[in-house]
Order: sequence, then C-alpha cells, then structure tokens
Amino acid sequence: MTDDFRQADLPCWLRCNDPKKLESLWQMADQERVLRVGNCVHLRGLVEISNHCVRSCHYCGISIANTALKRYRMQRDEIMECARQAVDFGYGTLVLQAGEDPGLDAQWVADLIRAIKRSNPLAVTLSLGERTPAELELWRASGADRYLLRFETSDRELFKRIHPPRKNQRISDRIALLRTIHSLGYETGSGIMVGIPGQTFDSVARDLLLFRELDLDMVGIGPYLAHPASRITLENEPDAGAQQVPATEQMACIVVALTRLMCPEANIPSTSALATINSLHGRTHGLTRGANVCMPCLTPVQYRSLYEIYPDKAGSNSTPESSHLAVLKTLADLNRPIGLGPGNRSRT
Ligand code: SAM
Repeated sequence: MTDDFRQADLPCWLRCNDPKKLESLWQMADQERVLRVGNCVHLRGLVEISNHCVRSCHYCGISIANTALKRYRMQRDEIMECARQAVDFGYGTLVLQAGEDPGLDAQWVADLIRAIKRSNPLAVTLSLGERTPAELELWRASGADRYLLRFETSDRELFKRIHPPRKNQRISDRIALLRTIHSLGYETGSGIMVGIPGQTFDSVARDLLLFRELDLDMVGIGPYLAHPASRITLENEPDAGAQQVPATEQMACIVVALTRLMCPEANIPSTSALATINSLHGRTHGLTRGANVCMPCLTPVQYRSLYEIYPDKAGSNSTPESSHLAVLKTLADLNRPIGLGPGNRSRT
C-alpha cells in the first residue's frame, strides 16, 4: 500500500466530493497501478453463454422473475467460434458468463473447457453463479483457471433482501463459496455493485476490507444501474438517509481507486457498467483511476440484447469487431499497451 494512503481514511474518501481531493485520489491510484501491475491492459473476451437463471435477484434484468425475457443458451460450436475470435483479436483470456443455469450441465461445461483449452492458447475464466463444490472442482480439473463471483455487498441483511434464496434452500453464503473457490486453486474474483438502494458508506468500507482479507486476484466494481424489471427501489428499501451510497460514476470510481490502494496487485477491470453510466468517458475513467483490465464483449450480436442485466448496457447493439475496435481506440488514446499472455495476478 502506498505511504500516502491510510486505511483509516477510507470513510473520508468514500464521502469525498471535493474535485481537487478526488483528483489526488485518482493520481494516487493511477501511480499505484503503474507501480504494481504496470501499464499494460489485459483484455478478456466476454461470452455471455446463457441468460437462463434460477435466481430472483432483485437487482438483475435476467432474474427468473423477468418472465417477459426470451431465453437463450449458446451451442458449443458458437462458443468455440468466440474462442477462436478471442485468439484472433490477441486476447489471453476467455470469460464464460451466464445466469445461474442448471441447464448448463456440469459435465457439458467441463467438456467445453477442455475443448477450448485444447485448441486455443487461452486462460478460461468462469462466471456461472453459485455452483456446488463438486462442480467447481470438476471444472478446475478440466482446466478452468479463474472464477468470478461478486459478493455484491458484505452487508448480510442487505444481501439477503436483494438476493433471495432459491425455493427450499438456505440463504447463499457467497463469501464462504469464494473461500472454497480459492482453495480449489482458482484465481478468485469478486466485487460489488456501488449504490444499491440501502447500501451505506460504512458497508462499502467493510467491502473494501473484505476484498483485502480474501486476498482477491480480481475485483470488479460497477455502479448499480436500476433495471425496469428489478424489484429494488429506494422507496421499498429501508431508508439509508445520508448514509446512502449514490449510484454514480464518481462513486464507483472512488471505490475502484480505493480498491487499487487496498489490493495493489489485483487485476481490476474497467467494467461495462462504468462504460454504460458514462458512455463517453466511463471506460477511460476506470482505466486512469486504478483499473488495468478490459473485457470486450464477444457475445454474438443476436444474443446481446437478451443479456440485458441493466438497461442500455454498453455494446448491446455492437458486433464483436466493433466492441474490440472501441477498446483498442480507448487504449490507443491513453497510450496503454495491450497485455500479452493470460495476464495472471502479479505477485511482487
Ligand atoms: N450469474 C452469475 C452471478 O450471479 O455471479 C453471473 C452473471 S451476473 C448477471 C453478473 C453481475 O452482474 C452480478 O454479479 C452483478 O454484480 C451485476 N449486475 C446484475 N444486475 C446489475 C445491475 N442492475 N446493475 C449493475 N450491475 C448488475
């Protein structure tokens, strides 16, 4: 951790609204980023392989409660084509993301991972929700390198309200599951949404401490973006009053910058939620305020609008080529080189 940053100042930074002070925070985070993970930006090709989901998360547009949504599950050949495209574009990682979809049979996913790894020089990251330890173990043994599972908020009461248990099941413990994922040898990623109705500054300070305690290899942070089909609103959440964290780009960037300072070696993406809340500068702001990873979307165009976890998601109408070119342009404007190879978490 840089000498200029003190953990005790977290609460002050989280509430900071002074442009001059914020400028110094962006600088501190950017310097720490250069020092600890360098200037390269690692590119991870994101494929949203299924929008089926058994969960009824109140924040999410692909929740089972969204009965109006047409559902899809990609074919193996389509996913293999995305992997080839990732290699052609020079990416080192393929990220397979989906709703929590038991229709993605564990053995089918394991065979897919093996096939991708056999024919492509790619690291494989999975983001398939809460699956059993046995399934996670099978996928790890099949060659999966990383697993992403955001804990969304460390406030257990808030989490319980926004992420109800499945029928006849216990409330999820994503933090325990992250420890299992880590123990299986995955590079482990987590993260939060910033500005969930009912989320307080103190709870975000605890989220930041938890990132560090879990020794996360990857931390994804984006603003909470209300979906019309989502069931949390500020009206029906207990009022957090002056303690409510705003769901703004600035607030999300403060958390990105503080994450870089708290977890200096972590890979931190500049998320699509940032690129959505500020379509002109969101991605750039992320990359200059602590982030060192981008996840260009490789999902075939016919599925993109069906994976609308929040409204007007960046790139919803783009092709993989245009998503790729948009990221390249951002990097060229910033004079940041593309990271070669898998871009694992660095340890100094
Ligand atoms: N099903 C997997 C899971 O739950 O981890 C992966 C897919 S889930 C859609 C990926 C992430 O999208 C979630 O962890 C959440 O942080 C984010 N997300 C969902 N709804 C969102 C919203 N309305 N605003 C911002 N981020 C959202």
